[in-house]
Amino acid sequence: MSNQSNLNNQPQKTFSFTNAFFLLGIPAIAIAMTPWAYKSGGLTTAVFIYAFIHYFVEGLAITAGYHRLFAHRSYKANPLVRFFVLFLGAGAMQNSALMWAHDHRIHHRHEDTEKDPYNIKKGFWWAHMGWIFFASNSNWAEENAPSDLKADKLVMWQHRNYLLIALVSWMGIPLLFGLLFDNILGFFVVGALWRVLWTSHCTYLINSAAHCFGKATYTLKLTAKDNWFLAFFTFGEGYHNFHHKFQADYRNGFRWWHYDPTKWLIGTLNFFGMTSQLNRTPEEKILLAQMRTKQKLLENEGINTQSLEALTLRMESILEDFRKLKQSLEAAKKRGYKRGNEMVTQVMQQIEDYKTQRENTYKQWMTQFRSLRPQ
Ligand SMILES: [Zn+2]
Ligand SMILES: [Zn+2]
Repeated sequence: MSNQSNLNNQPQKTFSFTNAFFLLGIPAIAIAMTPWAYKSGGLTTAVFIYAFIHYFVEGLAITAGYHRLFAHRSYKANPLVRFFVLFLGAGAMQNSALMWAHDHRIHHRHEDTEKDPYNIKKGFWWAHMGWIFFASNSNWAEENAPSDLKADKLVMWQHRNYLLIALVSWMGIPLLFGLLFDNILGFFVVGALWRVLWTSHCTYLINSAAHCFGKATYTLKLTAKDNWFLAFFTFGEGYHNFHHKFQADYRNGFRWWHYDPTKWLIGTLNFFGMTSQLNRTPEEKILLAQMRTKQKLLENEGINTQSLEALTLRMESILEDFRKLKQSLEAAKKRGYKRGNEMVTQVMQQIEDYKTQRENTYKQWMTQFRSLRPQ
């Protein structure tokens, strides 16, 4: 992630009546209007299908755009993709991408401390939505935002015209469909009001529930947890322990079977040449983090892990050599060497040997781990 120079500079946040209205007034209006929409026959199947589709694209605009592209710079996207995520993301009413990404970078830099805007140590509700009652000044954000974001003309366009873009994206699109289907009330209540509430609270759950419930798979130092159930509602963002440990990775669920539609979208766009430079954490680093965390869990239970440590260190050195070999193979390929070349054949053979060593050491490590683990 580039430019973190302003992340120690804390915004002055004051109580925001606009935000309070959004957090409390919108649900009240939605609850009050729903029986009316029901009685007038506005709650049609088309309305619910529309709301689901809009929630899906809007949610992906937040996760793929606001989060993984702008906050973390985990890949690059062409202007068309950036435009769509900025336009659709604005409708989720979670602030401009500039302010969202800035807050989020502070969250990662100062996680679980006073400086973390959605510090879970201040309680579940504070992290979920309490912090949103207080907002920083938009001009402050513009002056202090990281320069890589300020250099993006589309990000600044969205920031400076945020309210208008947000209203069109939040309400304009559903109302247009309401006109087309001759059902303004139904599309407004479900397609605009309930949809935005659903999307918002799904996002809020990542700051609250994903810092409370689930598994710490890659690090025990942070409160972030991996939770596949949350991932299901949040387009893959539930693998939050992985994300906090490897925040520059464009994936949150890194295994192919992990439910992470955001990574699939970024990957598909990459296939069509619309995104590039997708950042992946090397497999070896992930494996080691996993082993170290498991070992730490045993130590926390007062178990002597000396025998396991020896195997972990062996694995560390095997993986380091393995990484270097892969690098030299890549370098050889770049120099134009092909299969059949003596040097390439040699390196490939060594890589195969290391793969076997890695497998065997991991098996030994697991046997040792199981024998130490309390039954
Ligand atoms: Zn993040
Ligand atoms: Zn987090």
